[in-house]
Amino acid sequence: LVVVDHVQKHYGDFQALTDIDLTVHKGEVVVIIGPSGSGKSTLCRTINRLETITSGSITIDGERLPAEGKGLAQLRADVGMVFQSFNLFAHLTILENVTLGPIKVRGMKKADAEKEAMQLLERVGVAQQSAKLPAQLSGGQQQRVAIARALAMHPKVMLFDEPTSALDPEMINEVLDVMIELAASGMTMIVVTHEMGFARKAANRVVFMADGRILEEAEPEQFFTNPQSDRAKDFLSKLL
Ligand code: ATP
Ligand code: MG
Repeated sequence: LVVVDHVQKHYGDFQALTDIDLTVHKGEVVVIIGPSGSGKSTLCRTINRLETITSGSITIDGERLPAEGKGLAQLRADVGMVFQSFNLFAHLTILENVTLGPIKVRGMKKADAEKEAMQLLERVGVAQQSAKLPAQLSGGQQQRVAIARALAMHPKVMLFDEPTSALDPEMINEVLDVMIELAASGMTMIVVTHEMGFARKAANRVVFMADGRILEEAEPEQFFTNPQSDRAKDFLSKLL
């Protein structure tokens, strides 16, 4: 579904991604881990076309980025993104945050968009909060709204960039539980996280990045118990 092929990304002289090859099949959950500055966020942002790539190619469901003809907004709609900071629109209610994209980009009628949004808010457990503003919600609730908002666009793949690292410990699991449910429902997911419990429970594969390269790819159990590279061993020893 997502094919990243020989991707290089430079910021000026600095090479942030070097020869990245990554294929994610439909329904697969891939966890990306690695030290700070290894290029995890940059990779997510290139897949979502928030960043251009220097060379190589990225295709999503057979469509190459940048896509000709298809608008960037539509293309982004295929890729749902959830960030570390919840990035909700502060002046809009929870319900409006979720319906904005479907109405503006998917051309849905307001009533239909609201009906679907309420179902999604129900699914992530924050339907009671639909009339509130983001600032009136806890961090965990806001992040679950961000997930509902992304799902409202009917994405083909969901990207998560450290979705729980800005949360207080007691809120981490309520967000991870939603992500585990989403994974079980068959959503294709690329997740940057250091939550090993999530990786063990939900991931088909773990990808380890360092210095802008993919150093290892393995099943979670295999990676955590038997990492191959010294970088991965070193990283895991600091994490556990
Ligand atoms: P973290 O775990 O801290 O989030 P990361 O793996 O997500 O790290 P990136 O944010 O992808 O790392 O950054 C990779 C490298 O690219 C870093 O060295 C960073 O300084 C550099 N970088 C990221 N964005 C830019 C930018 N807009 N301009 C210049 N350099 C950048
Ligand atoms: Mg990052």
